[in-house]
Amino acid sequence: MILMNDVYKTYANGVTALNGISIDIKQGEFVYIVGPSGAGKSTFIKLIYREVKPTKGSILINDINIGDIKEKRIPLLRRDIGVIFQDFKLLPKLTVYENIAFALEVIEESPRKIRTRVMDVLDLVGLKNKARFIPDELSGGEQQRVSIARAIVNNPKIVIADEPTGNLDPDTSWGIMKTFEEINARGTTILMATHSKEIVNTIKKRVIAIEDGLIARDEHRGDYGYEI
Ligand code: ADP
Ligand code: ADP
Repeated sequence: MILMNDVYKTYANGVTALNGISIDIKQGEFVYIVGPSGAGKSTFIKLIYREVKPTKGSILINDINIGDIKEKRIPLLRRDIGVIFQDFKLLPKLTVYENIAFALEVIEESPRKIRTRVMDVLDLVGLKNKARFIPDELSGGEQQRVSIARAIVNNPKIVIADEPTGNLDPDTSWGIMKTFEEINARGTTILMATHSKEIVNTIKKRVIAIEDGLIARDEHRGDYGYEI
């Protein structure tokens, strides 16, 4: 479902972040993206939701070459992809409910359907009782749960998370991982960039290591492989 063939990315300032990457990720896989800072992990992830365009090479998501699609078709692509960030990126003036409903309102779902879906995903992440809170009234872990709920409310086929536990304490991080495993168990593909040796070495999944813009390792049930 995600097929990259010899992908390069050179930014406008001349920095080459990816130097010829080829990868095949199937529907339902759970993949960790690891590697040193500056290796190209975020660039790899941003290519998949067309936040950045490849300089060279093809990226097929469900057989569509997303490097070629027109700007106006990007929102359609993103309906199939939920994205989760280290810093949550919630809208501070909206309630938890509104932050999640927003993603459905832009695709013009009926109010009844929106209500059902939002409460379903809030239930899944264990935050039904906080629907009326604003982000500032929640702990970091709870805010990340809201961002996960927002990412999955459209039932995307792929969830991409860029260091989702980077700002969270260990206990909270394990809870977030449990939620990702539940989402993955329903058939959603998960790609997660992480610096957490503990998580990668405990919850064993496919590990793709990126170093200097190249794939250095790609292992089934792999190890984190770095000291920090
Ligand atoms: P990682 O996520 O592994 O830390 P990144 O993909 O963020 O790596 O960065 C890879 C390289 O690309 C780094 O040298 C970084 O400085 C550079 N880079 C990332 N984003 C940009 C950008 N928007 N413009 C220019 N260079 C960038
Ligand atoms: P953490 O242990 O992650 O630091 P906090 O101490 O920030 O968590 O929050 C603990 C609980 O208190 C959370 O359930 C959060 O929703 C609630 N809470 C925190 N700040 C506020 C606030 N300003 N108003 C209402 N509830 C709050």
